[in-house]
Amino acid sequence: MSEPEQRAVPCRCGGQARYRELRSKTVLTVGALGDAPSGSQSPELGSATVSRPYFLCLDCHQGQFPADADLDIVNTEFSPGVRRMKALVGQDASFDHGREQLHLLAGLEVTTKSVERVSEAIGADIAQREQREIERAVQLDLPVIVGEPIPILYVQMDGTGVPVVKKETAGRQGKLDGFPAYTREVKLGCVFTQTKWDKKGFALRDPDSTTYTGAIESAQQFGKRLYLEAWKRGWSRAEKKVVIGDGAEWIWNQAQEHFPGAIQIVDLFHARQHLWDLARLLHPADAKRRNAWIGLHQKRWLDRGKIDKLVAALRSIQSTDLELAKKIRNEADYFAANAPRMNYPSFRKQHLFVGSGVIEAGCKTVVGHRLKQSGMFWTVNGANAILALRCSHLNGRFEDYWESRRAA
Ligand SMILES: [Zn+2]
Repeated sequence: MSEPEQRAVPCRCGGQARYRELRSKTVLTVGALGDAPSGSQSPELGSATVSRPYFLCLDCHQGQFPADADLDIVNTEFSPGVRRMKALVGQDASFDHGREQLHLLAGLEVTTKSVERVSEAIGADIAQREQREIERAVQLDLPVIVGEPIPILYVQMDGTGVPVVKKETAGRQGKLDGFPAYTREVKLGCVFTQTKWDKKGFALRDPDSTTYTGAIESAQQFGKRLYLEAWKRGWSRAEKKVVIGDGAEWIWNQAQEHFPGAIQIVDLFHARQHLWDLARLLHPADAKRRNAWIGLHQKRWLDRGKIDKLVAALRSIQSTDLELAKKIRNEADYFAANAPRMNYPSFRKQHLFVGSGVIEAGCKTVVGHRLKQSGMFWTVNGANAILALRCSHLNGRFEDYWESRRAA
């Protein structure tokens, strides 16, 4: 579009912007055929000069380049291909490492800051599109996705702290939920399917069936996010639905609200951890008695789902130490409140997973490896953008995103 077809285009102010002249800018490209904007001259590899018509509004004095939207180079000196590569390296490792990778693999000379800026801009765009999708999902009845029935579909969720810059924790309570003051909690969810179990009857996850979604946000916002993800993955045609988490209250509130009818399971290993913590309180200096206490009945009761017996045993423990008595009471309450979610023999009989290992691994691979490296401090917006980007990539949806950009 080097020759303007119209001499005027509408301006945002409601007036008309008039054609002034052709103006050129230099765009960094990956040097591949098709990445340089059409109509550009490419005097050297990796850099293309594109000239396009400039329009100026006489009412509000806003200038615009309508062709930039078609070329997907609005307010940027990087071609879509270069931005795609920056986002890809930016979601994978530190921005500086990404800069090195681009130099090494594509011969591109860019700054660390530009890898950061582009990655966060692309991630923010993905997050924004998701947010629109989430709002649609809660306002309307989602269309039922047609397909084969899914034997078992799992939803797991967990929280993990990410270090943030000072202003993001200002005015917030110090040690919230056990996370140090300089962190904020990322809520991460995953969805996966199961069709098989092994010879011993233990659940096997379908290979490559896991998708993730997460953000630093309220439990309410996160619940909707995870609901949309589960829906995309076939929630409505799952024959058996399962939610697994630890004992955190927000998890079960969201499960109740968005995943009614699902089998709820408290991660067995978290539950066991509660017993060990209690054993340590009861017998702080004596490992032998600690093991004996656990081994006597408690662990067996837990593993066999005899939670009423376990709770009764805990409630019968006498202590003159008020602090300890309170802790014992809390633990008894924890088991009592979660008893239906600890029916492990029944879950085992159905060959279901009883642990939240998938989401715990996700907290490490999705969040930890990228966002919790030493020296990293995030803004909430920055962290959420990179999380959206990383999930999009890990879920195999990153190319779809570029496809939809081109289509627009
Ligand atoms: Zn105007």
